[in-house]
Order: sequence, then structure tokens, then C-alpha cells
Amino acid sequence: MSRLDATLLAVLGCPDCHGPLAQREVASGTELCCEPCLAAWPVEEGVPQLLPESRRPRGMVAPG
Ligand SMILES: [Zn+2]
Repeated sequence: MSRLDATLLAVLGCPDCHGPLAQREVASGTELCCEPCLAAWPVEEGVPQLLPESRRPRGMVAPG
């Protein structure tokens, strides 16, 4: 549904370590995962929430 453009993902990168982000579908929606630092950010309505307060462990994106 809210699939992000691969080019956009490549440009964004991880806010913490600037590593590559990978989009994943999880039970609660979509998240962007960083492999190097194991962080994840939620994607809300197609918009990545890459703010420090949105950072969370992988697979723990909460609905809403
Ligand atoms: Zn990272």
C-alpha cells in the first residue's frame, strides 16, 4: 500500500548511523529498519517518521 520508493530509501539512510534502511512489513504496519544499529522507524501514511522520538527496536512499531 504505502510502499516507499527505493531511491528515497537510499537517500534517507539511518538518522543514527547513516546506514542503509530496509522497508519491512510488520503486524502493525510498515517500518524502516537499519541493519547496522538495529533501529527501526515507523512509516505513517507513506511518510517515514525519522525523528529521534520515533526510534524504536526493530519489530516494535506500535500502531497509531
Ligand atoms: Zn542505523
